[in-house]
Amino acid sequence: MRYSHVFGSTKREVDDSLGTAMGLLARAGFLRHALGSAGLLPLGMMATERLVDFVRASLGVDELWPVSGLAWPEGLWQAAASELNSYKQLPTWVLLRGAPTSPVRVIAFMPGESSANRAWEKVCALWWRIGESLLGNAFLEGDALFMAHDDLLTSAYFVPADGPDRSVGCPRCDYWAEPDAARPRVVAPEPAPLEEPKLVETPGCTTIAAVAEYLGVPEAQTLKAVFYADAEGHVVFAVIRGDLDVSPTKLERAAGCGLLHPATAGELERAGMVPGYASPVGIPRDVLVVADESALAGQNFVAGANKPGYHLTGVNPGRDFKPHVWADIAAAKVGDPCPRCGTAIERMEGFLVGRAWRHVPEMAERAGMVFLNRDGKSVPLHVVSTELLPVALLAAVAHTHHDDAGLVWPPEVAPFQVHLLTVKQKDQRVRETAEGLYRHLEDAGVSVLYDDRNASPGVKFADADLMGMPLRVTVSPRSLKQGGVEVKARSGGEAEVMTPDELERAAHR
Ligand SMILES: [Zn+2]
Repeated sequence: MRYSHVFGSTKREVDDSLGTAMGLLARAGFLRHALGSAGLLPLGMMATERLVDFVRASLGVDELWPVSGLAWPEGLWQAAASELNSYKQLPTWVLLRGAPTSPVRVIAFMPGESSANRAWEKVCALWWRIGESLLGNAFLEGDALFMAHDDLLTSAYFVPADGPDRSVGCPRCDYWAEPDAARPRVVAPEPAPLEEPKLVETPGCTTIAAVAEYLGVPEAQTLKAVFYADAEGHVVFAVIRGDLDVSPTKLERAAGCGLLHPATAGELERAGMVPGYASPVGIPRDVLVVADESALAGQNFVAGANKPGYHLTGVNPGRDFKPHVWADIAAAKVGDPCPRCGTAIERMEGFLVGRAWRHVPEMAERAGMVFLNRDGKSVPLHVVSTELLPVALLAAVAHTHHDDAGLVWPPEVAPFQVHLLTVKQKDQRVRETAEGLYRHLEDAGVSVLYDDRNASPGVKFADADLMGMPLRVTVSPRSLKQGGVEVKARSGGEAEVMTPDELERAAHR
């Protein structure tokens, strides 16, 4: 590609608020921020394609079928349900792409548990390779948001940096999680003999703090009732231990009924609930009850009685009420104890570069993804999926691989292997040698960015360093006198004069 034609040039100055990595990509002409979001320019598009090639090569599966435009995840599940009907079609690996800046997804459809285990290992190995080859092993693997509450396994990958994404992590151990995936540490009290539910008068106690104080019990011995409703006004009753808060995002995953909003007074009334005194005990059957696992950490809870001015004591979940779903719906806050070591968790900044999920067969069954096995029996698919966030991943690579002069692309994802430039473009011998070399290398399958501008050597060298292609090749009157072209690796080392054939061999390495 001729640099004089590239849409998207280098910039000396960009907005400081972009941070180091995004700022470098913007200065090097890989992306631009416009109307508040990052858009890829041609160089950024090429680097993204190289990332996808890297994924394809690293996965090591025979066939990775490209699909596009299917909504994630339901659209893809529907397509899989209609296309995959027999064990003869399995395993099937699919590469799902949307817009170039949107997540790149790899989904494995497997016939059984052992093959799904191997697919999960392949996905983990892919991330290990990304970490090793592109991120200097500087990423954290931690808890991702579950796609459905009954997913078997989930991982998220995060590169700490001055990046735009927020997460929480432990300063002492290596615990790390997406904010909505973090789990506060729940400590269970000493077990006590189970009491029977008893109605007690609690006048004016419509908050957890008020009822705990009135009855002289810790907030951790109460059950908090929180109400949400879906788009159609169906009420979801979330139950959590009184000392914790509900994460609406986790609740949405657990309830599996789309976006939820805090229930209105009218929605509560229609569902037969008394705000401030609502109870999971004796709840109407058509109200979906989702209970946090913390409600199992303790016994003889205080809960609402669904009667103004009254609560129940001695409530024991499982015995006195049975939620439809038990799930982790608790929100973690900065300062909460780390679930592994108890140190206060801190906020972290960086780039969330991807996630992976191992789904349960029940998810496939719910989505209609079933196939006929060897025995002619209809059974659900086993599904493993992972997603890479390309813009964040490019930024994380830029964060890991740069120096004071600019980017230093690893050859695996560099948009061009060679940055060819001339000193004295107007010198006929220099120009003809460079043009010939450009065509020769391209014909030989080496991707070349050719700076054919009439700019000063200082400007060209500075741009080559900023853009960071692995090999810088200079054609100058001096190099020609020495019998070749000057070749310098961007990652360091001395410049060498090589003949075109020597250069071709070096560029293929
Ligand atoms: Zn910790």
